[in-house]
Amino acid sequence: MRVLLLGGTAEARALAAQLCGAGIEVTTSLAGRVADPRLPVGEVRIGGFGGIEGLRTAAAEFDAVIDATHPFAKNISANAAAACTGGATRRPLLRLERPGWADRSRDSWHWVDTHEDAAAVAATLGRRPFLTVGRQEMFRFFADLGGHAVLARVVQAPDQPLPERWNLITSRGPYALPGELALMAGHRADVLITKDSGGEYTWPKMAAAEQLGVPVVLVRRPARSPDVPTVQDVAAALAWVHTISTMSG
Ligand code: NAP
Repeated sequence: MRVLLLGGTAEARALAAQLCGAGIEVTTSLAGRVADPRLPVGEVRIGGFGGIEGLRTAAAEFDAVIDATHPFAKNISANAAAACTGGATRRPLLRLERPGWADRSRDSWHWVDTHEDAAAVAATLGRRPFLTVGRQEMFRFFADLGGHAVLARVVQAPDQPLPERWNLITSRGPYALPGELALMAGHRADVLITKDSGGEYTWPKMAAAEQLGVPVVLVRRPARSPDVPTVQDVAAALAWVHTISTMSG
């Protein structure tokens, strides 16, 4: 049994470890966005596949594909759905996606559909935003928040220059509540802007915002293919692999 695991998340690393422990061959694929990625156990390949056809060719070398990419990585997920369904090289595909935070929503949370909407709403709420949407999306806030005192936290610094009043910190989660409280209070943050990444790793900033009385602007997750079977945790993904393995063996 050989599994191609589309990764870049903590869940993908945990699943790779479990698969290896169960004696299943796993190759994790990373996009190569960050210079020093956290590497999972098992085989690793890095870099894009070159679209749907490239992914289809790569997937043909495996018995099953698991898309455990980030909830906001919608292109690779769409490619996986297209590459694994239909055609002679179709492969069983599972989506592993951690639950979002909608169930924990508070009155002080403002849900929006796009990063541009998040910028516009945040501009009405505060002057000192704490921005945690990732390096790739930061530029979408320049128009509305370029003159604000933004504290932006990313894993790796962006290539383009930031507006003069912005401060950048580079760090990688998971984060703990005391540190998040200190960071937000130290910046005197008056609005938190983030996206519905979900899970526990980055939850403490949401708890900190609540404790500090800071409103939150949250970008909703992009839509997903309803045709791809989806599980929410590593244990369920492992069970799916065992089922596929039994059926094919
Ligand atoms: P994306 O927009 O969905 O993907 C853009 C392109 O990057 C894809 O078409 C694919 O290129 C390549 N790619 C993405 N993930 C890949 C993977 N795991 N293995 C090989 N190629 C991959 O993705 P993104 O939002 O830029 O995210 C990139 C990676 O970072 C994802 O793997 C994701 O799990 C991780 N990540 C993303 C976020 C986020 O907020 N978006 C946060 C944390 C981690 P080709 O078409 O050439 O195959």
